[in-house]
Amino acid sequence: MEKVINYIKSNSDSYVEQLKDYLRIPSISTSVKHKNEMKKCANYVAGQLKSAGMKKVKIIPTAGHPLVFGELIHDKKLPTVLIYGHYDVQPVDPLDLWKSPPFEPEIRNGKIWARGANDNKGQNFVHIKSVEAFKNTGTKLPVNVKFLIEGEEEIGSPNLSKFLKTNKSLLSCDAVMISDTSLYQPGIPTINYGLRGLCFMEVEVIGPNRDLHSGSFGGAVANPINVLADMISKLIDKNGRITIPDFYNDVQKLSAVERNNYKKLKFSDAKFAKELNVKKLAGEKGYSTLERLSGRPTLDCNGIWGGYTENGAKTVLPSQAYAKISMRLVPDQDPKTIAKLFAKYIKQIAPKSVKVNVKELHGGLPIVVSFDNPAVKAAAKAASKAFGKETVFTREGGSIPIVVEFAKQLDVPTILMGLGLDTDNIHSPNEHFNLSNFSRGILASAYFFEEFAKIK
Ligand SMILES: [Zn+2]
Repeated sequence: MEKVINYIKSNSDSYVEQLKDYLRIPSISTSVKHKNEMKKCANYVAGQLKSAGMKKVKIIPTAGHPLVFGELIHDKKLPTVLIYGHYDVQPVDPLDLWKSPPFEPEIRNGKIWARGANDNKGQNFVHIKSVEAFKNTGTKLPVNVKFLIEGEEEIGSPNLSKFLKTNKSLLSCDAVMISDTSLYQPGIPTINYGLRGLCFMEVEVIGPNRDLHSGSFGGAVANPINVLADMISKLIDKNGRITIPDFYNDVQKLSAVERNNYKKLKFSDAKFAKELNVKKLAGEKGYSTLERLSGRPTLDCNGIWGGYTENGAKTVLPSQAYAKISMRLVPDQDPKTIAKLFAKYIKQIAPKSVKVNVKELHGGLPIVVSFDNPAVKAAAKAASKAFGKETVFTREGGSIPIVVEFAKQLDVPTILMGLGLDTDNIHSPNEHFNLSNFSRGILASAYFFEEFAKIK
């Protein structure tokens, strides 16, 4: 193992040069014009997997952009990790805001600047290079490895779910490793063990059969906007609790260990409030800000419209009013059940003076992977070794649908060992990746194989 670690340390400059080649390919999945570049990038990844010692490397066509697969199964008794990543990137506009061209990678201030540097080329390259280091030093890889690098993550992975469903044996493994998230803070190794789900609804409140003159009709007819505002205000009580009956029934309580983990992250409410330019934070009573941000469900009105909203005045009593309302969910809440509870309650609190329709727009399941899981522990230990600091465990407030798909289809733990920083400008101009996180990431990946070998 020492040989591998020394090899990785002495090759860091060469790794950066190789990463530049990967970053030069403008693999923008959403752009029809870049179809050939997508193929070129898939070929590049396949070549990298081959030179890392992967067997059965193949470029698998889909209805959209191809997937790249490779595996090294050299001992059936060893545990197998499936490493997932994506070679596609976000579009680059507005181009004039980039300090250096997005597909001409440049090193400045210890960072590599290019589209895809963090999301996700830099982060998946880490694992390819760590596997390669074992091969190049003649060291037996202590585990079996499979790679699945897709080209459609940035457009919602429309073909991945079907591929997972129909290729379970090809992808069978003991854990999935994904590096596509962020460190909690610079220099702090981080395992993300939970993601929230989502239930997205639209409410329509219908009043009179036409917009009315508020002078002639005001006082006699219910105003749909007033009614809708009143209904929305009833969805959360003064303690920040969601009032929908049975809403919290399936919520997994935060364990004492988890609450302690949250505490250890030493989150500053004051700093957070200052960054957002708000005087005071708000939310559910009895929970810390970090707990409310990722470990508890929420309800937010995302948009509300109706009546007259142009310049000046128009004394209208509108016929209709609308709102989009989303709820972030935590395990074991089910978006379908929550949608039903929401619709039932909204209709129940609506006055007889209006008609109410409720539509479910979109939903996604929440997930947590127990941090007691041996695979997760192995990753935490590996990251600690690479970064020289204790690994922290966090949950994400948002959702990553593919993680839920992996859990559903393959039924194995997913490890989110992110190496980026929230300030890396992913999806924005001037995306970058810290070279220190890049090289520590390669080490963390190598240490992970060593630790993961012990789980069986
Ligand atoms: Zn992305």
